[in-house]
Amino acid sequence: MGQVDGKIALITGAAMGIGAACAVRLAEEGATIILTDIDDKKGESTAALINSNGGRAEYLHQDVTQEDQWIALVNDIGARHGGLDILVNNAGIAVVCESITEMSLEDFHLQNSINLDGVFLGLKHCIPVMSGSGGGSIINLSSVAGLKAAPSLAAYAMTKGGVKLLSKSVAKECAVAGNGVRVNSVHPGIIDTAIWNKMGLGADVPGENRTETSEIAQQAVPGGKLGVPTDIANGVVFLASESSSYMTGSELVIDHGLSC
Ligand code: NAP
Repeated sequence: MGQVDGKIALITGAAMGIGAACAVRLAEEGATIILTDIDDKKGESTAALINSNGGRAEYLHQDVTQEDQWIALVNDIGARHGGLDILVNNAGIAVVCESITEMSLEDFHLQNSINLDGVFLGLKHCIPVMSGSGGGSIINLSSVAGLKAAPSLAAYAMTKGGVKLLSKSVAKECAVAGNGVRVNSVHPGIIDTAIWNKMGLGADVPGENRTETSEIAQQAVPGGKLGVPTDIANGVVFLASESSSYMTGSELVIDHGLSC
């Protein structure tokens, strides 16, 4: 018996990294997975991997910033699966800028649109279908950067702090409404995924990091330990499952002591 047997789970930005690990772990625990992303090739291969290991997954293209795509997706899930039990609002990017005074308004809006508009739209359109099928669990990916300052990542930190309080506020709305929907945020520390490479830290060429993720963890994390996507996915499984049924509006920090 899996921890989320028979549940329908939607995970955004799940072609790779933390989202892909959440898809794999939730599938291992018995959920049917709808994984979405803008990287169709990697998304298809993550779904194929889950299916080849005996899980149930399908990949669908979705840009989380587009409201029409959320509406079409949620209608499709409702029609084909009869409801939704788990939503992992995972898609996110990190725009690095040495100083806020050098950040373009375009980059600021880009940062905000994926990390905050995307989560807002997921909450707005998934809560009705979830409550209609008896409730569910929403897990929003924040960060340790949503708990403490992140110089050179000020706009990113703003979005992740926003995700934390958006989650708490909506959790209370749902609890008071008695619609059976729980909302929690997860705060990863330094996890070994491609997001760090996309940030281009210390690089002359965009998208080609000179700084290794392990080096960053070595300097910042107590004991120097670098996390792996499954470390976060295991926390997401817990929040998705009945084991966390009295948890809503909580922040689950998974950072090996980074934010202590
Ligand atoms: P990742 O490896 O870069 O994966 C993120 C995925 O989201 C990518 O497939 C990316 O596609 C996709 N994506 C980007 N924009 C999108 C959009 N508009 N609509 C749908 N999908 C989109 O990142 P990750 O490290 O797994 O991060 C997952 C979440 O955890 C993010 O919210 C991140 O902020 C958070 N987080 C990560 C860490 C960490 O250390 N890794 C720490 C704290 C918090 P493209 O590659 O095509 O852009």
